[in-house]
Amino acid sequence: MVNARIHLSAPDVSGVEERYLVNALRSGWVAPVGPDLEEFEREIARRCGTAHAVGVSSGTAALHLALLALGVGPGQAVLVPTLTFAATANAVAYTGAEPVFVDSLAGDGNVDPDQVARAAADLRREGRTVGAVLPVDLFGAVADHEAVAAAAGPGVPLVEDAAEALGATRDGRPAGSFGRAAALSFNGNKIMTTSGGGMLVTDDRALAARARHLATQAREPVAHYEHRDVGYNYRLSNLLAALGRGQLSRLDEMIARRRQLRERYLRLFAAAEGTRVLGEGDPGANCWLTTLVVEPGRAGWEAADLGAWLAARDIETRPIWKPMHLQPVYRDRRAWLTGVADRLFASGLNLPSGSGMREDARRRVFDAVAEFLDQRR
Ligand SMILES: *Cc1c(COP(=O)(O)O)cnc(C)c1O
Repeated sequence: MVNARIHLSAPDVSGVEERYLVNALRSGWVAPVGPDLEEFEREIARRCGTAHAVGVSSGTAALHLALLALGVGPGQAVLVPTLTFAATANAVAYTGAEPVFVDSLAGDGNVDPDQVARAAADLRREGRTVGAVLPVDLFGAVADHEAVAAAAGPGVPLVEDAAEALGATRDGRPAGSFGRAAALSFNGNKIMTTSGGGMLVTDDRALAARARHLATQAREPVAHYEHRDVGYNYRLSNLLAALGRGQLSRLDEMIARRRQLRERYLRLFAAAEGTRVLGEGDPGANCWLTTLVVEPGRAGWEAADLGAWLAARDIETRPIWKPMHLQPVYRDRRAWLTGVADRLFASGLNLPSGSGMREDARRRVFDAVAEFLDQRR
């Protein structure tokens, strides 16, 4: 096991989750309904500081439902950061609205409010309706949602894609509490996992009720099967909610471990000319993934060189999200660009950041990085 492959962000599950899961199984609630699901929703709402939460089968489903509940649809444009995982843009495409892409800030990679303002103004001048703005809390650093909402303009609802940011804060306010609604993800590699799952959180009672309705095949509350809308089968299983409750009970501990890793990376790269850590110095980040940014001209090497060095030692790293405006599926869409996301994509590297990494694995990573830096000095 000494030389087992080290992953970017492997699931971190323990006996705690096992007990929650076994208890749920024995309770007989083996369905997308049950007491663990209800309790998990209450616990997540409390954690996010929202009045309501709807457990769903993925973060993508949560985004889709939030947009549908806000009335986003064909003919509208939705402002999406270009530097994100494809799910953010896909959720917009599912509604029939047009995802349009906006560039990033160099500091933490989150969407650039000036470009949001430019995009919103241009679209309005053309007579287009901006149906929503969908900022992402990239790699667990909460975006400046107030600035983004102001830039999008009055009447444009903000949906927070907090899929990577559970447990993070900005000025003391929790991720998930910004905007009209927010989406969380519990996919296998996220800060906490239900193997697959997500949650829509909101203060808006009617929005939550609408999302819940659409997530359960839009079945009307009558004994016979009655449907007025096209619904979805998007509810979270009670078993997975139980797993999520176990994970949530360990969330603070898991975030603390990711923050420790970030601190050690910061020390390791402090003396390495031409490098920085994306979003460094944000006290509220949950440190889901630590991203190194390398300026090859100053460093004398590229992010990909370090990636290859670590891969040869069975240590996984990944390039950061390939911007949506470069994706074959979206490259014909409109985009308001400054070049920042392109540069971050070319120069960024996500480093192993999992909370389940043991000290021997951590040491293997740090030693390999230190050796690389020595050899490049
Ligand atoms: C993971 C992720 C999603 C999608 O979540 P799933 O649960 O995998 O559907 C959406 N947006 C961002 C930014 C993500 O990282």
